[in-house]
Amino acid sequence: MQIALPSSVRKKICRQLSISGRRETGGLLLAEQLDDEGRFRVVDVTVDPMGGERAYFERRPELHAQALEAFFEKNGNDFGRFNYLGEWHSHPSFPVSPSTTDIRTMQAMVEDVGNIDFSVLMIVRLRMFVMLQVGTYLFMRGQPPQRVEMVDEPVSRSKRTFI
Ligand SMILES: [Zn+2]
Repeated sequence: MQIALPSSVRKKICRQLSISGRRETGGLLLAEQLDDEGRFRVVDVTVDPMGGERAYFERRPELHAQALEAFFEKNGNDFGRFNYLGEWHSHPSFPVSPSTTDIRTMQAMVEDVGNIDFSVLMIVRLRMFVMLQVGTYLFMRGQPPQRVEMVDEPVSRSKRTFI
């Protein structure tokens, strides 16, 4: 799997992280699937400005359902291409790797049969006010989390940059 995080979305996240300061913030990752080989591009992220505590983030689904609905509608309800990819949240005071709670929450989501088969967790942190650190993990049913490669733009369209 490879995920592109375009600069427009990166900027939106950076803005949100500066507003939130030392509180955690986060929301949903909304993405476009680019091919059958697991390449995705994050199109937008939702933000729950009230969901964070200093060292714990829990999103409230009702606030994101509406944003998800609007995203589907805007993209002609083409769910095969434009869909929910996963979750994101910030770790203002910790490294960008998943906590035990993060792993348990994400794993429970994909192990729940009848729910989604996989989900992505992207953890971000702002350093020096402008530098965005990103750690992204793929959770799949019956498998341990795997680190996912992130690029600025889909590889076929421009040169790749590693984070
Ligand atoms: Zn976390």
